[in-house]
This record gives sequence, C-alpha cells and structure tokens, in this order.
Amino acid sequence: SQSFSVSALRAQFPVLQQSCNGHALVYLDSAATTQKPQSVIDAMNNYYQYNNANVHRAAHCLSAKATQAFEQVRDEVRSFINAPKREEVIWTKGATEAINLVAQSYGALLEAGDEIIISTMEHHANIVPWQLLAQQLKLVLKVIPLTDTGELDLTAFAQLLTEKTRLVAVTHISNVLGTVNPIAGIVALSHQVGAKVLVDGSQTVAHLPIDVQALDCDFYVFSGHKMYGPTGIGVLYGKADLLNAMPVWQTGGEMIKKVSFSGTTFNALPFKFEPGTPNISGVIGLGAAVAFLQQQDRAALLHYEQGLFEYAKAQLLSLPDIALVGNAAQQAGVISFVVKGEHHSDIATLLDQQGIAIRAGHHCAMPLMESLGLGGTLRLSIACYNDQQDIDSFIAALHKTLEFL
Ligand code: PMP
Repeated sequence: SQSFSVSALRAQFPVLQQSCNGHALVYLDSAATTQKPQSVIDAMNNYYQYNNANVHRAAHCLSAKATQAFEQVRDEVRSFINAPKREEVIWTKGATEAINLVAQSYGALLEAGDEIIISTMEHHANIVPWQLLAQQLKLVLKVIPLTDTGELDLTAFAQLLTEKTRLVAVTHISNVLGTVNPIAGIVALSHQVGAKVLVDGSQTVAHLPIDVQALDCDFYVFSGHKMYGPTGIGVLYGKADLLNAMPVWQTGGEMIKKVSFSGTTFNALPFKFEPGTPNISGVIGLGAAVAFLQQQDRAALLHYEQGLFEYAKAQLLSLPDIALVGNAAQQAGVISFVVKGEHHSDIATLLDQQGIAIRAGHHCAMPLMESLGLGGTLRLSIACYNDQQDIDSFIAALHKTLEFL
C-alpha cells in the first residue's frame, strides 16, 4: 500500500541500520522478538536518567513520578486491548509467566477429573504448564487436532468439549504456521459448556488490533518484546470476577494488605498478582511501544504487512524444492517452509552468512513438528519495518544457497 511509508518507520529502528557478516542486515525474525523503535529506547533511558525510584512506596517526589508513569501505562494497555477495567491488566515478565500464573492460580480451583483443552499448534509455553498441572491434579488434558491446511479442526474441538471442560487454552496466531484462529467462535462454544478460555496473543499483538471484549475471552496473554517493547515485561488480562475468585500465586511485598505472624491478608487487583518490585523500566518501555503502535494507521499497517506476506509467499513458491508449511485461509506474521532434501539449520547458517536473519528449528512447538512429521522448519517473520527489499534480498540469498548446495 502506497499510503503507508515504510522508510520513515524503518528509520526509527536503530538496530536495522547495520551490517552483518559484511551484508546489510535483513531482519526477518521478528516472531522471536521484534526490534525496538528509538522512542522505546529513549523512554527507558529517560526513566533511569530522570525518574528512577521504586513505585507505590515512598511519598517523595521521585517515587510519585515513577508511580504515576508506571500506573499510566496500565491505563494505556487497558485501552490498547479494550479491557473494561484497569485492574484487569496484570504485569508479568512475559506470556510464559502469565500462562504459568493462570495454570497455578486458576488451576488451584480445579479437581481431579476436570478437563483442559489445548491445541496441537501450541507453543511449549501453552503446553507444559497445563501438562504439569494435569499430572499434579489428575486432570484430563485434551488436544485439538489440525486440518491439512494447518487450521484447528473445529468439528473435533466441539466433540472434545464436555460439561467437565474447565479451560480451553489456545493461541490466537500460530508462531509456526501463521494460522489466525477464530477465537470469538471458540470462546462462544466453550462458554456454552461453562469453560473459560485463555488466549495466547504472543504472535498477535504486533499485527492485529486486540479487543478482549469483542473476543469475550476470559484471559489474554502477551509479551512486550514481540510488540516493539522491551523483554522482561508481559501482560495477563483476566476478567475481574475471575481474577478475584482466584487464589494468590507468588507472594511477597506489594501484593499484601496486612502481614502479621498470625496471618496475612492480600491486596486487591491488580496488586494481588504483582509481588515484589515490578519491572518498572519494562512497563515504561511497553507504554512507549503501545504509543508507537497507536500512532500508526493500524488498518494501513496491517494491509501493508499482509501485502508483504503474500509477496514473500509467492516469491518462495517460485523457487524449486520449497514446500510451505501451513496454508490456512487466514494467516499473519510468519511463514514456515522446508527445502526438500536439506536440513533447515544448514540453510539458516548459509543465509546468515549473507546477512539474512531467519529462524530454523522446532520453534518451541515440538508436538506440532511431530504431528507434521518434521524435525523443524525455516521461518521468516514480518514486522512493520520490513520492506520489499528485505524479501528480495532473502529470496536472492536463498536462491544462491540452493544453487550452492
Ligand atoms: N506463545 C507463543 C505463540 C510464542 O510465539 C511465544 C514466544 N515465542 C510464547 C508463547 C512465549 O513468549 P515469551 O517467551 O515471551 O514468554
């Protein structure tokens, strides 16, 4: 789309203006982590340079400034995902910690024989916490199978749901197949049997606008570092009634109301789930990342990214011996492929020598790889700062690599 100026946007990302192995860096690994715009870097630097103090504690000026900035980001994130209430936004260190929080805290409300449903395309972060919980509590863990195109088999899903299903935990977008799952429909079906739904939005936040009320999901989790923000900060959104009914998880300072040796009472939401000194600079950086995304024309940006996505797919298919992995009707962000007869890590290494950064391996989705009968894939991922030149450089390097092999 011509209405979207990628060059101006790209200029905001200092990391991208460098060479790697003697070639201009072509960064196509944003699904692992996105690069950070100058505004995010500046916000964090400014915080440490001018505003650093612990939050929620002291009455002094600096602490008041830090607390104000920190809590303002909670309002910004609330609005970013359209959550009804600010206290429904809980800071975690990432999507992984958010899922573990729900597994341990919501999990404490479950009983032997209760059922949890996940899917074949989940990241390990949305598998292992449930597997462990199921072992601890003798729960039944069920797995939604996939169709040949790499979509959730919704007919099978409907059959897995029972009166005993307590939670459905699914990804919004697959970090391997790029499949965009029909979350609102999954939520509606799950709610019919009284099951709650956790959505892993890790691969979604950088691409699609999120509206937790429209999805009507019970939990939504994501990491700041995959949406142009810093590492070490993430979000658990949960419906207030549910979060209020859940027991505390990690404990310590901040999350208490009163502590005595005869017992402790706990703080209200959101602090109930935020023990200890939080990642203040991370929250500040996340606020800048939210502002960065909200300054964009999101519809134009998405249209631009999707155009690049289709272009990359078409270019890949024009090469010999390439097979795409995943062909869902709705995809975003990532394209997985294999090169017939070649090992994925050899290809990635040869591409790296030409300045191309993509990912190779199982992408923390080993059960998915197993179901596909693959040891791994190559994965390129697209972000707002990528342009056609990136794709052309990648395709030229891949072409050279295939000829060399
Ligand atoms: N879920 C998905 C779909 C992911 O892609 C990732 C990151 N690769 C995670 C969860 C985990 O995110 P984090 O490592 O930031 O906690």
